[in-house]
Amino acid sequence: MEKILSDFLEMVTVDAISFDERKVADICLKKLEELGCVDIYEDKAGEKIGGNAGNIFARYPGTLPGSIMFSAHMDRMPQGFGIEPVIENGVVSTKGDTILAADDLGGIAAIFDGIRKLKESGQPHPTVEILLTICEEKGLLGSLHFDYSDIKSEIAYALDSPGHIGRIILAAPHSAKLQVEVFGKAAHAGSEPEKGKSAAVGAAKILATLHEGRLDHESTANFPIFQSGHGATNAVCDYAIIKGEARSLEKQKLMDYITYFEKHCRETAEAFGVTAKTEWSLGSPGFKNDKESASVRLATEAFAQMGVTPMPEAGGGGMDANRYNYNGLQAVGLATGYFDNHTVNEHVFLDSFLRTGEMVMRIVMEYGANPEKYKV
Ligand SMILES: [Zn+2]
Repeated sequence: MEKILSDFLEMVTVDAISFDERKVADICLKKLEELGCVDIYEDKAGEKIGGNAGNIFARYPGTLPGSIMFSAHMDRMPQGFGIEPVIENGVVSTKGDTILAADDLGGIAAIFDGIRKLKESGQPHPTVEILLTICEEKGLLGSLHFDYSDIKSEIAYALDSPGHIGRIILAAPHSAKLQVEVFGKAAHAGSEPEKGKSAAVGAAKILATLHEGRLDHESTANFPIFQSGHGATNAVCDYAIIKGEARSLEKQKLMDYITYFEKHCRETAEAFGVTAKTEWSLGSPGFKNDKESASVRLATEAFAQMGVTPMPEAGGGGMDANRYNYNGLQAVGLATGYFDNHTVNEHVFLDSFLRTGEMVMRIVMEYGANPEKYKV
């Protein structure tokens, strides 16, 4: 069996979850050491957020100038205990009652395999920086608490995206959570309804006239939660709340939407005779690279050398790459062959996955050969 596959199976069959990554972390520490990595350390992020393992950082030293960072996360979604992988017709899946955790232990196995292939090649190469995070599935908490001041790389790859090898996630949206509380006036519904003012109707008017869904080619909004009243039908409703979210690849568009949302809620409520109180908070920062960005060109060149078709596109969610970009790295996501992650149908195509070590190696070698070409 290929080493990348046996590493992967070893990691998915130990139990781990967000805040409880200890067993996977211990395997990773051991393997990084065996591979010849240096500067290996585990940070205190786990202690800060109530977990039993920290983010792990390491370097695989090279003799050529510069370095490239690769990252993957050690935690996994719930339903990730007692995983029994099944390999059939070139696909790894599970018996159907757990996830597979190829998201994201496939990414970790790919990084290890890339290091192994660099070593086996005997060729000079630049340094590889490796960051294995905790609690990615919990709002990117591990990468939030990592100290980036010691990172030497300018370019980073998060090996953490669904899809076949070749898919490059070059952008991810900024996001915000939004809500509006609507305050009306209670009154007996049967004897004096004219003395009341329905918050439910006011909120309904707000929602019915709010721009949402797809706002433009890079912005969306969604308000799926609507609650009102206190469970009784005999009083005019004095309270309602609507909750939702908005996303955009452009931070300014998101901020403009929030301004619009606040104004729309206030004015619609006033016109109807109720009051609205809006609240919002920003989620993890988004990022936006394009096909000309050094990180994307470098991955594209590596794929060309492998005969793999590059598929650069924007993603719709958050991943550690969001935080890496925010912290000054130019980071993109790379797919490792898994599909249907976060479900019991999660599976990984071996024809993609088995080449991800080579992908890592070629990115590093290409960077080493042409560092000037990939200056950020
Ligand atoms: Zn993931």
